[in-house]
Amino acid sequence: MNEQYRLFIDGKWQAPHDGQWLESTNPYTNEVWCQIPKATTPDVDAAVGAAKAAFVRWAGLHASERATWLHRLADKLEVHAEHLAKTEVKDNGKLFAEMRMQMAYLPKIYRYYAGLADKVVGQHVPIDKPNHLALTNYEPLGVVMAITAWNSPLLIMAWKIAPALAAGNTVVVKPSEFASASSFEFAKCVEEAGVPDGVINILSGLGADVGEAITSHPDIAKISLTGGGQTGAHVYSEAAKSLKHVTLELGGKSPNIVFADADQERAAAGVISGIFAASGQTCIAGSRALVHRKIADEFCERLVTIGKEARLGDPMNASTHIGPVTTPGQYQKILDYISIAKAEGAQCLLGGQAATGEQCGNSPWFVEPTIFRGVTNQMRIAREEVFGPILSVLTFEDDDEAIAIANDTEFGLAAGIWTTDMNRALMLPSRLQAGTVWVNTYRSLSVMLPFGGYKHSGIGRENGLNAMYEYLQEKTILVNCETGPVTNPFVMK
Ligand code: NAP
Repeated sequence: MNEQYRLFIDGKWQAPHDGQWLESTNPYTNEVWCQIPKATTPDVDAAVGAAKAAFVRWAGLHASERATWLHRLADKLEVHAEHLAKTEVKDNGKLFAEMRMQMAYLPKIYRYYAGLADKVVGQHVPIDKPNHLALTNYEPLGVVMAITAWNSPLLIMAWKIAPALAAGNTVVVKPSEFASASSFEFAKCVEEAGVPDGVINILSGLGADVGEAITSHPDIAKISLTGGGQTGAHVYSEAAKSLKHVTLELGGKSPNIVFADADQERAAAGVISGIFAASGQTCIAGSRALVHRKIADEFCERLVTIGKEARLGDPMNASTHIGPVTTPGQYQKILDYISIAKAEGAQCLLGGQAATGEQCGNSPWFVEPTIFRGVTNQMRIAREEVFGPILSVLTFEDDDEAIAIANDTEFGLAAGIWTTDMNRALMLPSRLQAGTVWVNTYRSLSVMLPFGGYKHSGIGRENGLNAMYEYLQEKTILVNCETGPVTNPFVMK
């Protein structure tokens, strides 16, 4: 019997108002494996209402008490890490090996922000007015709405709600319709940890259905969304109507730049893992390899050799390198881009079609790892986010051309540089328009480092110390300590 989840609102498991559920399909077995509630506007109202009521108590706790709750939650996440990882694999088809590492890391995110909760301090400002005492402090915003994508639901959720909760906000989470189960399993941990009712609420449903109820809700102070650019722009403009705070983590078309002096073996491994990990379904996918013309032939041979070794198969199997694509829509989109690249004249060095065969199990959603050469930065395959295992190789002549091609994109999430030249390693990152620049590594993240996009890749930052301030507002307190006679009340001092 498949599990039928319920909404987690005010610490209770509730059936959706309209009594409807959506089916969730395992991308590898192609079987419906659970049902998730289909929330509608009354459910959004109930979740936001619960979060609003809980806010007064939660924000009123001393920061160190909130930290204790976050540590208790982290304890439960540690206990259930393996189960959470398996749940994510069933929902999004990503490799168990990767999701297991993510789930092992998850408690650290909550502990990191638990540690920061009581380190947020205001200032005494020695201002230029005699006999005045000026103070500043930070206060939470209120109810925060976290909207997550299907590729790493619990990791993305943690990046949002751990700092939000530590800062004193309460939260409502809406995961993607394609991968909501792990968020409900997470809610079981919240319940087990005894986190006060209403502090964390989880509702699933169709973004298009509940979107307006979220963006127009008067009691939501902030929306933090991870998703595609179109969704981001829509949510941003709708949220602006009620002047909500917004953080957006959106897509990318990240360049991995390989200089002629690079350690080619390491660079090739880095470029491959940058694009084929998670079947290319990551926002930071290094989907454009910019390779110095002098080494392009040799480097492409290396890429193809490694790419050919990729084992497609059951994502639960430790020896699998590439699993299925998560959704039928995403699968079709990737195949369409392969056709577009071929039609635009790109040369296919590897893959270039859907993958079939025994290793794909019952899944009709495998795509062969694909490498295109002869790509120019004007082709759609180099400009638009595919979100699949498709690498475009472009070439450059010198540093200036490499930087110009890398920056010639509407996106700016991440970039990679592969070089053994210290000057390049130190000087080039500042010329790249990207929120994260990796040198001789790729796809390496830490909760201690800020993460976010330049240009159309996002607004605001997650992770790191400053992410706390994305969920706080600053207050100024000015105390007049003058005792002399009252002066002219019609002139502002
Ligand atoms: P998506 O289709 O934009 O959806 C993202 C989330 O927004 C989902 O929960 C979705 O719900 C919801 N949503 C859709 N329409 C909405 C609306 N009108 N109002 C409010 N919420 C709405 O993105 P996705 O396909 O899940 O994820 C892939 C995208 O996310 C890629 O572009 C990828 O680059 C980006 N991403 C970025 C990061 C980062 O940190 N920068 C990380 C991971 C992924 P439904 O699923 O129910 O429609």
